[in-house]
Amino acid sequence: MRFLLALLWLPLFLGAQTGAAPPTLHIPPGAEASPGFDAETATKAYLATWKPAQKVRSDAYFEGGYWLMLLDLLVGAAISILLLATRLSAKMRDWSERITSRKPLATWLYWAQYSLAIFALGLPWAVYEGFLRESQYGFMNQTFLAWFMDQCKSLAVAILLGGIAVMALFGIVRRLQRTWQFWGAGAAIVFTMIGALIFPVFLAPLFNKYTLLEDASIRDPILRIARENGIPATKVYEVDASRQSNRISANVSGLLGTERITLNDNLLRRCSPQAIMSVMGHEMGHYVLNHVYKMVAFLTILFVGYFAALRWGLDRSLARWGAKWQIRGVGDTAVLPLAALILSVIAFVATPIQNTLVRTQEYEADIFGLNAARQPDGFAEAALLLGEYRKMEPTALEEFVFFDHPSGRTRIFSAMRWKRENQCLGNAVNPCER
Ligand SMILES: [Zn+2]
Repeated sequence: MRFLLALLWLPLFLGAQTGAAPPTLHIPPGAEASPGFDAETATKAYLATWKPAQKVRSDAYFEGGYWLMLLDLLVGAAISILLLATRLSAKMRDWSERITSRKPLATWLYWAQYSLAIFALGLPWAVYEGFLRESQYGFMNQTFLAWFMDQCKSLAVAILLGGIAVMALFGIVRRLQRTWQFWGAGAAIVFTMIGALIFPVFLAPLFNKYTLLEDASIRDPILRIARENGIPATKVYEVDASRQSNRISANVSGLLGTERITLNDNLLRRCSPQAIMSVMGHEMGHYVLNHVYKMVAFLTILFVGYFAALRWGLDRSLARWGAKWQIRGVGDTAVLPLAALILSVIAFVATPIQNTLVRTQEYEADIFGLNAARQPDGFAEAALLLGEYRKMEPTALEEFVFFDHPSGRTRIFSAMRWKRENQCLGNAVNPCER
């Protein structure tokens, strides 16, 4: 379910962070503009501003995430196998069919029970991963009760909206038995797009307050960069992300007219104006480069592959265990834990592909943002703050497999390379007299 929810949440996150007085840009010795400016040396100068303890902590947090991915898979698989082998899944289906003879409604009733069951069974693990571990690393700003309420809201959204998607998918599987995998992939894409369309307007406000950014000293330069790049924005939104955590972040969300650029209050509090501009330049890159639509095209190809593999996996497992688990076939709702298990294995194996698709777009947005905002040092500052929760200097293989954004080192180096390539370096704080 987490995988399905993640797909619904298509908005492209940059990532993120809190202070008192407005921070000012600080360029470390070795990264100042000079006739002999060297991008490698400047990158090292920025990386050297971190204390060794900061690096140890960030590496431990992010590398722990590698194991969490594997453990997420195993915990999810254990829950699925439990529901199947105890025939609890078959019992939930029987109960739904006793309540109503209407197939779509019975499917939704099954989905509601299934969602509640995996929520309850997965809760101890979710508390560790989502609350305790985040608190341990100092990212959590919520009380346990507030965190738990957010989880309950997510569950309600999953039961309602996820239920509509599941009813449609089972309808397809039952009616189009020979070709359901193709139609199912198509329907999954349509639901992903609907999720992205309604996310900023209906879903995100369930968890956070969105307000118009009123501070003209921040808003006006953002709107100027937007106009220069042909973005018809007249508003910038601010979100109270500090409600949940102290990570800095900004994102572009929405689709087909609901697009909006949002920056979070942690970014506003913790970053210099130059860093904020650089982050907004990055977000505008996602918009101008049509990343959401390109991602939909990529996902269409991936989903066709996923559904073909799902069909193959379901047909084989049902031939072997279907009778034992009292599942009548692929059109029987009781098959859902098995489908979830197969999809989670596929998504796990495809992690480097998905990460590379997203990371490639993020790098494109980085380059666009450097050209649009012209704040290489601001971008290096933001990259350092983002490094609080994303390993700063991974190996090339780690970056390929596990990173859905470029690493801090990659980002700082691109910024310093841009700084070297641009001639207007006389004023390092405000490179192009903007
Ligand atoms: Zn991004």
